[in-house]
Amino acid sequence: MHNQPEQFASDNNSGICPEALEYMLQANQGSAPAYGNDVWTQKATDYFRELFEIDCEVFFVFNGTAANSLSLAALCQSYHSVICHETSHIETDECGAPEFASNGSKLLLAKGENGKLTPEAIAALVTKRTDIHYPKPKVISITQATELGTLYTKEELLSIKETARKYNLKIHMDGARFANAVAAMNQSPADITWKSGVDVLCFCGTKNGMALGEAIIFFNKALAEDFDYRSKQAGQLASKMRFISAPWLGLLETGAWLKNARHANQCAAYLEEKLLNIDGVEMMFPREANAVFAKLPEQVIQILKDKGWQFYTFIGVGGVRFMCSWNTTLARIDELVNDINLALSK
Ligand SMILES: *Cc1c(COP(=O)(O)O)cnc(C)c1O
Repeated sequence: MHNQPEQFASDNNSGICPEALEYMLQANQGSAPAYGNDVWTQKATDYFRELFEIDCEVFFVFNGTAANSLSLAALCQSYHSVICHETSHIETDECGAPEFASNGSKLLLAKGENGKLTPEAIAALVTKRTDIHYPKPKVISITQATELGTLYTKEELLSIKETARKYNLKIHMDGARFANAVAAMNQSPADITWKSGVDVLCFCGTKNGMALGEAIIFFNKALAEDFDYRSKQAGQLASKMRFISAPWLGLLETGAWLKNARHANQCAAYLEEKLLNIDGVEMMFPREANAVFAKLPEQVIQILKDKGWQFYTFIGVGGVRFMCSWNTTLARIDELVNDINLALSK
């Protein structure tokens, strides 16, 4: 069996980075207590507290859908609602899991440029109705970096924090690409999370270079009450948890989480630069993290697909998403750009 060369479909198409794998192999020596009562889990959890400069509650689950759904469920009663962007993963890519896990909390969708919620859009949804017949807004969910590859600036985060305070809303952050955001922003992890009002962060390890695994980080510890039971009931308590927490420790302790994210961001910047030099190619959204969204002619997209290139085209007609990851190479980008040039000249 052979895998393909590096692709641009998603950062979860890439494999396990050496640091995560190395720690996983170390955790494979001898035996260790199950269900998170092992030293790897203790160390990784403590490392997150150090990294975020706060005494937070940390839980590990298998994937992002579970992390988002269960953390949102912890913030909501079934009669509450969650305000999110219309392109958010929780709305478009989780098969209704947030509503399922919360026994019915409704997602309220807002529009906003470049995949971002604005205080105005949030306020409009909150104030639209105040009667008992409407699910009560309880949470703002933001994605950092967003599904469209953009970033909420520190100022934007703070204005959302203000809005949350005003309307008594909690803030959930989908950090599927949180590492890429930190790498791109020159801000500390604390600054762009709890200091910006984030109550809970779903920090993705999978897309950053692990085999699987996400950390759910409750900065607001009161909201984590009984979360271990919620996670167990949902089938998300790994018995051999050390194989999630050890690679996490590997990413954190060695600095690979930032190195990987920086590399992915730089690859995307390189690809963007190359594409901008081509007549007939336009960017769809500002390139701020590790994704490049470009408009390409339909026939070019088809030629690229026929050649075996993989990428997403879910952003309407002519929209292509190229995602870079820790294992993207500049040589592979050059090959892609070369094929785009060839296809355009046909
Ligand atoms: C990848 C991703 C997730 C996690 O998805 P899973 O497939 O459930 O691991 C969550 N949010 C965003 C924005 C993502 O891109």
